[in-house]
Amino acid sequence: MLTTQTLEVHAEALRARLTGELVLPGEAGWDEARQAWNLAVDQQPGAVVLAETTGDVVAVVEFARENGMRVAPQGTGHNAGPMKLLADTILLKTSRMRGVVVDPVARVARAEAGAIWGDVNEQLLPHGLWALSGSAHDVGVVGYTLGGGLSFLSRSLGLAASSVTAIELVTADGEFRRVDAAGDPDLFWALRGGGGSFAAVTAIEFRVYAIEQVYAGMLAFPWDRAAEVLHAWRELDPAGLPEESTVLGRILQVPPLPDIPEPLRGRQFVVIEVIHLGDEASGAELVEPLRALGPEIDTVAMAPAAALQHLHMDPPQPVPGASDYTMVGELTPEAIDDFVAVAGHESGSPLLSVEMRPLGGVLAQPRDDHGARGSFDAGYILFAVGMAITPQMKAAVEAHARAVVDTMSPHRAADGYMNFAENSVAASDLFADDAAYARLRAIKAAHDPSDLFRSNHPIAPAR
Ligand SMILES: Cc1cc2nc3c(=O)[nH]c(=O)nc-3n(C[C@H](O)[C@H](O)[C@H](O)COP(=O)(O)OP(=O)(O)OC[C@H]3O[C@@H](n4cnc5c(N)ncnc54)[C@H](O)[C@@H]3O)c2cc1C
Repeated sequence: MLTTQTLEVHAEALRARLTGELVLPGEAGWDEARQAWNLAVDQQPGAVVLAETTGDVVAVVEFARENGMRVAPQGTGHNAGPMKLLADTILLKTSRMRGVVVDPVARVARAEAGAIWGDVNEQLLPHGLWALSGSAHDVGVVGYTLGGGLSFLSRSLGLAASSVTAIELVTADGEFRRVDAAGDPDLFWALRGGGGSFAAVTAIEFRVYAIEQVYAGMLAFPWDRAAEVLHAWRELDPAGLPEESTVLGRILQVPPLPDIPEPLRGRQFVVIEVIHLGDEASGAELVEPLRALGPEIDTVAMAPAAALQHLHMDPPQPVPGASDYTMVGELTPEAIDDFVAVAGHESGSPLLSVEMRPLGGVLAQPRDDHGARGSFDAGYILFAVGMAITPQMKAAVEAHARAVVDTMSPHRAADGYMNFAENSVAASDLFADDAAYARLRAIKAAHDPSDLFRSNHPIAPAR
């Protein structure tokens, strides 16, 4: 196996094959090249390649294979936390491969490996189309979709992974292939929810939807009303809500930053976010019981689909963060009380946001044409996150996020979700379905037996 020193000797051979850039430790641009979106993550790979073409991806895979190294594909580094990169790994950054092509008639889009959701949605908007993007505009299309891809529209339209029609990739043998359901059902299944363990994806093709307007926004109340508001929210049980409606509950401690608008800056709220794929009358009827509680801020109204990218108020640029998550089964009154006790106004929580995002709808209905992740055996996903600007802040956020997860453990569902897991977890914990996990391991063994591809949530080859 190569060390960093011997890599330097062989690097010119790789450099000569690349359209993009190879950056080695200590070279100019090293810190920028190895930086992840999550600024609290300190990635120390053996080398970074800033790929610009599919040929670059083939070159990196062949070079790594020939030299006993591993390859870690990465788009943005939103979920770089669990990946412990070592000197034997080339970090394959795809952030320069951001091409997006839309076929508005067939309602299909093709995004290169480094495209972010903002790139896709910008191209879709003029056609009155929208994709199953997540809450943030700058999350990578490929990483998000390989993990499943939970959109605010997923309760009716499914996970992003279930809308994928084809995936272009480079295999561990260095072969470029276009994989779809007919040609390679096993690999196509594994890639749609099993993450980045199976290949280096160079582009992804997926269905998009005719959505111009949504009834969406937030109701915000002072956080000392969390118990009252969240109990009322609980009664809008996802099993009883129309699939077209996603209503999430969260505690939000807004940082006192100058670019945050005045009514929110530096304040604490219990927030209900509403996303309803329907008209104003049906949306208003849905929200009425919560609106009747008298929110301090009410932005819920008909809005262009583009508003979905800002509704959740995710940070618009890279930030240092730490988090934890858990799946929740049934949301009982006791679960709400536990949630408020550990995240509410008397908890001493340093967390920026603790949210419970409802699943249910079509997400509760497994289908034969789904990939490794197409549904959840859980009612909600809980995600707790905070800013980690200093090591002390990071430790405090990690400890409290863990306390939230521990407090909610009596209400836990056994399933998992790799996109919301930003720490190392056992891969088996991400899949409640043992047969699905065993199938993933068998597919990994068939396509990458020597474990060339290093994912943030690795699936080990079956032995
Ligand atoms: C602010 C914020 C908002 C979010 N909102 C949502 C949301 O609404 N819904 C949701 O489901 N998730 C959400 N996420 C989680 C997000 O989906 C995951 O972090 C996802 O892994 C990000 O993908 P990425 O490509 O941006 O990140 P990266 O860290 O670049 O990639 C994550 C992993 O994906 C794999 N991967 C990436 N590119 C490739 C490739 N070309 N080939 C092979 N493997 C690859 C690798 O294993 C990599 O380690 C959010 C995260 C953040 C920080």
